[in-house]
Amino acid sequence: MLRGQMMDQPLLIADLLEHAERFHGDTEIVSRTVEGPMHRYTYRDAARRARQLANALPSLGVAAGDRVGTLAWNGYRHFEIYFAVSGSGAVCHTVNPRLFPEQIAWIVNHAEDKVLMFDATFLPLVSQLADQLKSVEHFVLLAARADLPADSGIPNLLSYEDLVNSHSDVYDWPRLDENAASSLCYTSGTTGNPKGVLYSHRSTVLHAFGSSLPDSFDLSARAVVMPVVPMFHANAWGLPYSCAMNGSKLVLPGQKLDGGSLQSLIAEEGVTATVGVPTVWLQLLQYCQRENLSLAPLKRVIAGGSAVPESMIEQLAERGIELRQLWGMTELSPFGTTSTPKLKHEGLRGRELNALLTKQGRPAFGVDIRIVDDAGLPLPHDGVSFGNLQARGPWVLSQYFKRELDANHSADGWFHTGDVVTIDPDGYMRITDRTKDVIKSGGEWISSIDLENILVGHPAVAEAAAIAVPHPKWDERPLMVVTLKPGARATREELLAYFDGKIAKWWTPNDVVFVDELPHTATGKLLKMKLREQFRDYRWPE
Ligand code: ADP
Repeated sequence: MLRGQMMDQPLLIADLLEHAERFHGDTEIVSRTVEGPMHRYTYRDAARRARQLANALPSLGVAAGDRVGTLAWNGYRHFEIYFAVSGSGAVCHTVNPRLFPEQIAWIVNHAEDKVLMFDATFLPLVSQLADQLKSVEHFVLLAARADLPADSGIPNLLSYEDLVNSHSDVYDWPRLDENAASSLCYTSGTTGNPKGVLYSHRSTVLHAFGSSLPDSFDLSARAVVMPVVPMFHANAWGLPYSCAMNGSKLVLPGQKLDGGSLQSLIAEEGVTATVGVPTVWLQLLQYCQRENLSLAPLKRVIAGGSAVPESMIEQLAERGIELRQLWGMTELSPFGTTSTPKLKHEGLRGRELNALLTKQGRPAFGVDIRIVDDAGLPLPHDGVSFGNLQARGPWVLSQYFKRELDANHSADGWFHTGDVVTIDPDGYMRITDRTKDVIKSGGEWISSIDLENILVGHPAVAEAAAIAVPHPKWDERPLMVVTLKPGARATREELLAYFDGKIAKWWTPNDVVFVDELPHTATGKLLKMKLREQFRDYRWPE
């Protein structure tokens, strides 16, 4: 072999921040603090404080490979922790505070977190759990010393500001092996115990490159990016890293994710791109409509985590905002595909364009996808055949943390996503269901996602879930469970008629029931397992 003669430099997370400090030093990071006021500083300030924190970690007994847990919203201190912990060789373990307390305790114990750093919002939660968290030696409140509660019942409670301020800002980031573990995130586990996904420096930096591309998030030093997706959910889709890589201004919305709070941040901070799950954008749009407010200067909404309804794409388009759908998974760091059009689609308008944008999209280089049948044999990418989606690539999980190689991977090394999809000849993937949520009527599949997307287009409907209910003749038939918008009215017959002409007749659900609330997972997805349980004794109308 003739060896190439380029530098062999590891891909490291700390280098992203150092780059931002050196070349985008005065670019701002703006945060809404949990205390309320806005906090503003720059990449230069963030890098300085990250070095101080990196110097402080050994005083907490944190060594290379140790896990440091966080329970925190999107804010500047969480951003510093990301870089200080990973950069110094330890593992930043973001814990989802929306999980049940027992699950949080289970996760922290499974990860063996040595330190837990948390926002003041979570003081009651941490007080309640502290003596169950066996591995945690230090608890750090993300606050000044003056804000430490006198009697929290939490042992060894320290102030984050104390810790940072009492250490030097001179620190040389170690030249780690790029395959060293950098961060850890557990999937929310709608079935069984949560599973840990352990990212590496290499996977994180490559993911930052791939997700920055023009057809992915299209990041740049001219973008003002507001990650609404939480930093405890798949690293806010990698945005803390990719924004540092690109020198994009970051707007971190903290804990307040309601329409009004987000609208004012967009207007006041000049947000050009924002990223999060569809329910957040539905609320924001409803708010702006009601209050007659603009979303300027927003240019792009990147939505994923669950399917994006066509009505949302249209409402955003009317405001001149591009909706880009993303499909991803915690196991994919999380970026897999985006629904960005190609040159050949330039003439598409209206319904035809929407048909493309409602697909989950095509992969960027770095993620390879394919579909297989139940025997594991590859199926054609013809837009018609549907099967189990598999993925592979340098930022795709190879094995869950502290688990044996399991049924999640095929013999030839592909990861089973658990999604049932078609892929068209242009490479666009379309999810019809999660494997465990499919509705099988007379041996044929009905897409619960399609039914839900249609029904949320009805002006009275706030949210809709389609679930399979056993049926004497067809094996299973779809039942729609619906919540209405405040003050809105609709009848069962009206909603069933709304499907006319939008889908094949035999897909039309057999019934609609109204509820006050639908169950959600900790990441805001419909918890269909719970719904199916809830409607176990449901009987079809005669
Ligand atoms: P959790 O939210 O449960 O912690 P993930 O974020 O990893 O876990 O969830 C990944 C799953 O979310 C995917 O396998 C897929 O089923 C669903 N999902 C993600 N993006 C989309 C999308 N754009 N449309 C439909 N489903 C999506």
